Formats: sequence, C-alpha cells, structure tokens
Amino acid sequence: MNQQQHHKAKGFAAHESKQPLKPFEFTRRQVGPNDVLIDIKFCGICHSDIHMVRDEWSEGTFPMVPGHEIAGIVSKVGDKVTKFKPGNLVGVGCLVDSCRSCDACRKGLENYCAKMVGTYGSRFPDGSITYGGYSNVIVVDESYVLRLPSTLPLEEVAPLLCAGITTYSPLKHWNCGPGKSVAIIGLGGLGHVALKIAKAMGAHVSVISHSDKKREDAKRLGADDFFNTSDEGTFKKLEDRFDLILNTVSAEVDFQSFVNMLSIDGAYIAIGLPEKKEMTLRVGPLIWKRRTVAGSMIGGIQETQEMLDFCEQHSIGCDVEVISIDKVNEAYDRVVDGNVKFRFVIDMSTLPQAFPVSES
Ligand SMILES: [Zn+2]
Ligand SMILES: [Zn+2]
Repeated sequence: MNQQQHHKAKGFAAHESKQPLKPFEFTRRQVGPNDVLIDIKFCGICHSDIHMVRDEWSEGTFPMVPGHEIAGIVSKVGDKVTKFKPGNLVGVGCLVDSCRSCDACRKGLENYCAKMVGTYGSRFPDGSITYGGYSNVIVVDESYVLRLPSTLPLEEVAPLLCAGITTYSPLKHWNCGPGKSVAIIGLGGLGHVALKIAKAMGAHVSVISHSDKKREDAKRLGADDFFNTSDEGTFKKLEDRFDLILNTVSAEVDFQSFVNMLSIDGAYIAIGLPEKKEMTLRVGPLIWKRRTVAGSMIGGIQETQEMLDFCEQHSIGCDVEVISIDKVNEAYDRVVDGNVKFRFVIDMSTLPQAFPVSES
C-alpha cells in the first residue's frame, strides 16, 4: 500500500444531531511516520456517545462516528514507530492527540490539556474532524495508543479504555486501598468496573443504588455492602461513613446527603456529568469534617496503560453484551433505560459489506 494514500474507512455515523446512526463511508489520514493503523475488532458503547450524538452537553460536530473504547490489532506502522508492530493487540481511548508541551501534557495529564483532541466529534489542528471507533480502521499517533492485555477476552477489555480509566484514575488519586471505606453510587457501565477495581485495590466497597434491582449483581461482583437510598433511614444510617464516594451516575442526585456520608477528610468525586450542571452545596458540612468535593475526567495516557496492566494482573474485564452494529440504535435506547449488564460492545466484523451512503 502506498504511504501517500488516505485510508478508506467505513463505519456508522449520526449524520445530524439526534438522528439514528447509519452506515457512513469516509477517509482516515495516511499513516504518518509516528502513526499506527489499527484494524478495529470491538468498540464499547459509552453513555457519553449518546450524550454527544444527541447534543445533550454541547453542540456536536457532524457527521459523528462515535466510539472511544476501541480494541483492535495493529496492521501497519509508520517508519518512526517504536512501541508497536503489526499483530499487536492495542487500544485507543478518549483522546488521540494533545499539545504535548503544556503543564498538563508534561505531567502525563493529557486528558486535561486545553488542546486535547477527542477521539471523535473533535478536530485535529488541521481542522479535519476526528471519527471514532464505530468503524473498521483508525489511524492514531503511537503516543496515544495503548498496549492491551492478551490474557483477557478483547471484547471485555474494550470498555476499560473509557470506563476503566475514568474510575481507576480517581480511585488511585484519592488513595483507594486497604483500610479505606469506598462507596460507588450507581452500578452501571462505570459503576460495575469501579467496584471491581476498588475491590482489587483492597478497599471495603459499598454500592449505593436507588432501588434493590442491582443488589444481587453487586454482591456477585464482590461488593461488601449494598444500600438502597429508597429504604427509609439510609442517608441517616450512612452519615460520616465513607472515606471516598465515587458518583458514577449522570442523573441528578441528592448531592448534599451524599456529602454528609463522608467521614473526616473524606472526598466525594463526580465522574458522571448531568445535563443540569449546577448543584447547591452547603459549606458548613465541608468545614466541619474537612471534606472535599471534586470531579475527575478519564485519565492520562501513562495512567491508562497502568490501569490496563493492573486489570490484566487482577483479571478484571468488563461484563459485556456483544452486539452487531445494526443493533446500535436499539442499544442506545437500552443504555438510557439502564437495561444492559453492564456495557454494550459492538463486534466490528458485523459491519455490512455493501454501503449505501458514500461521503468523504
Ligand atoms: Zn466514555
Ligand atoms: Zn497540552
């Protein structure tokens, strides 16, 4: 294959905001000296894909090929690539580039770089749109490509690229470990992997949910305790109990009551972004117990690799339902209804051979 050729790619895209995903043909950039060409095998469906397609956070860039939980195999590398070779199992998460020179980038916090380039719905410095993983191939600079474990099923690894690092990074940053009491709010795509990782880090882990529906799953996945906030007296009972609370849900919650569950020096971390972004916070309960309220967004490249290695060591994969790509719109509705255990993953071999829509 000629180095100068752009790569024809096919995938599924939302052609306009709030529209169902349909087949889409497009081109990827040529494989540059530092690039890796990846044959995509699986891509997870993250709740943020749905928020993005439906313009629930901000105005999106269309056509939009979502997908930032990408797992595949290297099929070609540029001349200067040193970390990968054809045949390697690799992944791509939420970012495919950043400025590489700011404070955040120098500290390995590329996820907080002001010029971070998202894997889809974003733009490269040359103005071209980034297209994500609901697709057959992707070209990514090797600095933003991750090595994947070979000892776990690839479809169970794919969602770690977003759900895994989004939970691992705050758990690590706020010192989850032996002797710590950690609560996970919500047992969905993020929550179920947060639970597995927090347990593997050695903490005592509670799952907090608004019904009893997930009680059995929580126990099966290793939770030490399960609390239903609809049960009378739950909030009162849990006051001053946790060192760390990770809120994985993007719905509005009784924020203040959760903050009151923190013990001295406890931290409440938001990782799910609600549509309504403002919440009221009383300052007194922070002062009285030296509590922290914070947020966290995915993680840097080096930490993502560390998370993948940790998950391999502890045999942590996601619980997934593998679907063919023609079921993607149905899957979106089921994610919104909370009707999936716990992550949909698209099998990219199911992309249709014949494509009715052609654009580039
Ligand atoms: Zn995501
Ligand atoms: Zn930067």
